[in-house]
Amino acid sequence: MKQRILVVANRLPVAIQVTERSFHFQPSPGGLASALSALNDAYELMWIGWPGEVDLSMIQPENISTELKKEYNASAIFLTRRQLNRFYFGFSNRVLWPVLHYLPTHIDYDEKDFRVYREVNRVFADRIVEELQAGNTQDIVWVHDYQLMLVPAMVREKIPEARIGFFLHTPFPSSEMFRALPYREELLKGLLGSNLIGFQTHSGLRHFRSSLLHILGLDSEINRIDLEDHSVQIGAYPISVDPAKIAAAMEEPDFEEDLRIVRQIKKGRKMILSVDRLDYTKGIPERLSAYKKFLERNPEKAGEVVLVQVAVPSRTKIPDYRHLKDQVEVIVMDIIEAHETLPDSPIQFMYRSLPFRRLAAFYREADVALVTPYFDGMNLVAKEYVAVKKDHGVLVLSELAGAASELGEAIIINPWNRDQISDALETALELGQDECTRRMTAMYERVKRNNVHYWSRSFLEDLIRSTEEHADRHGPVMPLNIQKRNELKEVMEQSSRRLLLLDYDGTLAEIQNLPLAAAPDQELREIMERITALKNTDVAIVTGRKRQEIEDWMGKFPVILSAEHGLWIRMVGEDWDKQLPESHDLAWLATVEDIFEQFNLKTPGSFTEKKEAALAWHYRLSDPTFGKWQARELVMHLKNMLSGAPLDVLDGKSVIEVRVQGIHKGNILPYLEGTGRSYDFHMAAGDDATDEHLFQALPSDGWSIKIGAGYTHAHYRLNGVRDFRSLLKFLADS
Ligand code: UDP
Repeated sequence: MKQRILVVANRLPVAIQVTERSFHFQPSPGGLASALSALNDAYELMWIGWPGEVDLSMIQPENISTELKKEYNASAIFLTRRQLNRFYFGFSNRVLWPVLHYLPTHIDYDEKDFRVYREVNRVFADRIVEELQAGNTQDIVWVHDYQLMLVPAMVREKIPEARIGFFLHTPFPSSEMFRALPYREELLKGLLGSNLIGFQTHSGLRHFRSSLLHILGLDSEINRIDLEDHSVQIGAYPISVDPAKIAAAMEEPDFEEDLRIVRQIKKGRKMILSVDRLDYTKGIPERLSAYKKFLERNPEKAGEVVLVQVAVPSRTKIPDYRHLKDQVEVIVMDIIEAHETLPDSPIQFMYRSLPFRRLAAFYREADVALVTPYFDGMNLVAKEYVAVKKDHGVLVLSELAGAASELGEAIIINPWNRDQISDALETALELGQDECTRRMTAMYERVKRNNVHYWSRSFLEDLIRSTEEHADRHGPVMPLNIQKRNELKEVMEQSSRRLLLLDYDGTLAEIQNLPLAAAPDQELREIMERITALKNTDVAIVTGRKRQEIEDWMGKFPVILSAEHGLWIRMVGEDWDKQLPESHDLAWLATVEDIFEQFNLKTPGSFTEKKEAALAWHYRLSDPTFGKWQARELVMHLKNMLSGAPLDVLDGKSVIEVRVQGIHKGNILPYLEGTGRSYDFHMAAGDDATDEHLFQALPSDGWSIKIGAGYTHAHYRLNGVRDFRSLLKFLADS
């Protein structure tokens, strides 16, 4: 049986036409259905989405649902007029769309719209849950686009082991812009329900990471975010076109007729082509004004060129889209009037949607494609033009379209700069054949290789891998309950050489506002005496603290000490041994200290702690919100400053630490092995991110215990210091 994928998108790839109490389906060509078509061989695709507006007074929805399921393996979500207006035309298209495209002046926000956005996302999520439970909870769920950002978390809430991918087709804007959104936290958390989140470009991915940091205070790896209950992979997957399908459209017998019609419009002139939905993100007014300018600067060309602007009607219920149409028509009329005396107007404005084959004929005949969106997730028109032209024609492309990151051989312009667009048109029309071929061939090869099938397969493969890795790496973290404690003790007692690796702050002793206030109390001293007296047992204190401090506090017990996160190790009764390559230059300490000093000045309550090969910036005593805010700024700043240096920036509990890469708490295990020791029982306990190295370095049968909440590689969890101390007392009772 084929693995099933639930493809969840606002629109189903099929529309319903109701006629006189009956109905029939009209598949919508192009779009997501053809983008995912290559998956049909290996997977069963099931669709969940809205089938378009249907007059349900005339028809029973159950009848439609049954037929849709049978004919298209689709599950329809019917939306009421109110839901459609508030969820789709409201929050999705009047708030999210402009913000995601950096055009906040188009925001038109109504509180109620977000509530209905949430309500409709819930309807989608519930349907997914229903389908998963009826089928298999291991089916893959692939959610698409900005209308459904809350869905992944809503599904995960009900089915924690669900396998969910999310792809955002729009740009993801800078965190400064994303912050403008009401409910931005909820939107980000919604996305984080996924196992994999895909963006069109690397800059989208980068912006997403910085939004997580600025808005949720959440740190991330270059391709991963670790959360308490799961980790989320992130990646860039530029969507593309299907060159084979485009070629097939041009093989159809009627294509000749399409070409003939286009040539009638072209009339032997050079043709510049623009094709867009009539959307304010597409840069149409600036482009037309630039063309007007071009004609004014080159009056002799007016009779030799024609700009064909195909503008597909879009979202006409929204006032800004209607205004845009008026605005564009005024510019078109200006151009027409300025050249009234010519036998043929140098502009053709077509306000309609063309079938793809006709569009392909326009591409084929166009000498130049002029694609100038202000912002665009990808822009498939640019790639389609390249796929049709193969080795001739010229592409003029906005640097702010996602496609620009792949189509560098285009003439790249800034969509707001009319002079530049006008110059680009001059260059494009004059470009020699060889140069056209050189540029276009390079782009064609890339589009052919990175085609839409490559896009869908690579996203899906990564999604599957991310859910498998997740299951391998991160089995459930179990509470260390009474039964498990007994088992732990039993295993320990049956072993012959034992190693206990204990973090200090947050594990053996409560975290204190001032680091020096965490000195061992009476209870801890007693515990230390008892566990170090256990036979055949080595106890190691593994801390981030400076060696002098931990030696003062713990040195009187027969324990192995590891200080400064593995930089120093001291065996019982021996001297400290430094784990740093001789060649390492510590000059960076001064630079980082300066940066910390600046943050100390602007963050009341914060201070720097100097270690031998590390620096820590503590903000435990600062105002919690402001401190956290400053810490995020500091991390961003450090990561930029230090990128490429062999250093790690660690975001701990109310502390940011910079230290030498590769030196970490886990080092103690190979070190002990190097001294000839071997153990058949290992236990490690720790409470923060630095202890994860320790957990990961343990052998697979080791007992790893995370103290407190948070994502972890450990197998077990205890609530806090008090519970861990009582475990140690229990183990020491023999
Ligand atoms: N398109 C079409 N007929 C038209 C105009 C456009 O079929 O008259 C298609 C075009 O082939 C392309 C899509 O609409 O595949 C537009 O995608 P793009 O990424 O350029 O813009 P979007 O509309 O997604 O913002």
